[in-house]
Amino acid sequence: MKLESELQSLCRRLPQLGELLERDDFVALIAACPRPLVADTLRSALENLRHQIKQGTHTDESVDHRVAQLCRNVELQLRSHLRPSLRKVLNATGVILQTNLGRAPLSDAALQRIAEVAGGYCNLEMDLETGDRGRRDVHVEALILRVLASRIGTPIETFSELRGAAVVNNCAAATLLALNTLAEGGEVIVSRGELVEIGGGFRIPEILRKSGAILREVGTTNRTRIADYADAVTPQTRLILRVHRSNFRIEGFTSQPTLAELIELGSEVSVPVFEDQGTGCLIPLDEHGIRDESHWAEDAGSGVALIACSGDKLLGGSQCGILAGEHDVIERIRANPLFRALRVDKLAYAALETTLLQYLSEHEAEIPAIAMLRLPADVVKQRCETLAEQLRSPDLSVDVVAVESVIGGGTTPSASLPSFAVALQHARMSEGALAALLRSGDPPVVGRATNGRVLFDLRTISAREDHLLFQSVQSSLERIGAPSSTHPRSVAE
Ligand SMILES: *Cc1c(COP(=O)(O)O)cnc(C)c1O
Repeated sequence: MKLESELQSLCRRLPQLGELLERDDFVALIAACPRPLVADTLRSALENLRHQIKQGTHTDESVDHRVAQLCRNVELQLRSHLRPSLRKVLNATGVILQTNLGRAPLSDAALQRIAEVAGGYCNLEMDLETGDRGRRDVHVEALILRVLASRIGTPIETFSELRGAAVVNNCAAATLLALNTLAEGGEVIVSRGELVEIGGGFRIPEILRKSGAILREVGTTNRTRIADYADAVTPQTRLILRVHRSNFRIEGFTSQPTLAELIELGSEVSVPVFEDQGTGCLIPLDEHGIRDESHWAEDAGSGVALIACSGDKLLGGSQCGILAGEHDVIERIRANPLFRALRVDKLAYAALETTLLQYLSEHEAEIPAIAMLRLPADVVKQRCETLAEQLRSPDLSVDVVAVESVIGGGTTPSASLPSFAVALQHARMSEGALAALLRSGDPPVVGRATNGRVLFDLRTISAREDHLLFQSVQSSLERIGAPSSTHPRSVAE
């Protein structure tokens, strides 16, 4: 234990804040950074040091050393404070629509349109013909209907005559709005096999309650028949709800009426059918070996009164929720005050409109999520081999291995695509430590850590970013030093 007087004399070695700020190194730092930010950070660094001294861990020499290092430490701290928290990440997980990593990357055309529209003013709510106030959602309404009609293969006139579309903040918002508009105070019939949790706290029973509707569960977890729905219809029934089982599958002794059967029942008893479809899928998936996956356009054309999907799942656009359905249903949705509260901004419209135009002109191969999905495995393999060649070193054993990429984003969990990955194994690091090191890179690289190795599935890396991936991994490995180091430093340093 140090004497109180010794501790006081150590504390006296700490210069005053004002004095330090006059020191040459701090003067130089203040030339580059606002003085109050520097002063604040320095104040807490000094506080920290004083605290350590009181713990008895310091000597005259160590205090002097820390004082000499103060400016450098303050600079490092400031640099981390001034770095955006939301950063570009290289997704090497092989999950194409990964919610934690921001779901669908936007196409070049969509990005360009965002810059064009949001860098200045735009006609978001102005009718340029009359100069009067317009509606923001008219920009995409006709386009949504046109794209749906073209994908179903029906003439646009017959399809759009009685239909409309509206856009809100995400699919959860679209579902809430639909239930509140169509069923508040009344009953909604749902199968027990569809009372799902999508993730991020979106649970159908809770959303239903919040919407003011009353849940009327029918059937069992594994089997629900059309008769179960029919038996549950009462004068209080406002809606039949179908929820796409996005993130799980029920196998074995199961049954579920088709959407067509629900629509037929709905029309017999005059109750509309609403489908929470989720994915917004507009492309055929069976050619990728993925069967029984719901298709937004097919379902939208099947006679449902209303359908909701996300903009940033398989559709490959911006975050939003798209509602499409009967004209009068869409008008009731627009008249709901919640619609205004859930509206989207011009950036989302710009990206969504461009993405939909890419479908309409059959250029959807330019949408990154679609391009990744269609990327042949042997192309991925070739890129993996090139990267493996570059990365191999005495410390790092590198192989190319066959893996399965996952579509994600509400597509059936078994929807996987044959792919290849670079497998990295470090001589002195566990897979967890190596994965953490690579996540600390610039840009961070996120892979899959498994069985002592970290796997990089290049399907979810754009080919033009292969080199960036290489550089990030290379410099992360350099940071932990040469193999001769007797005590390998931990990643946290
Ligand atoms: C993903 C999904 C949602 C939630 O969509 P967000 O756009 O994330 O709000 C709702 N319903 C289904 C069926 C989904 O797949």
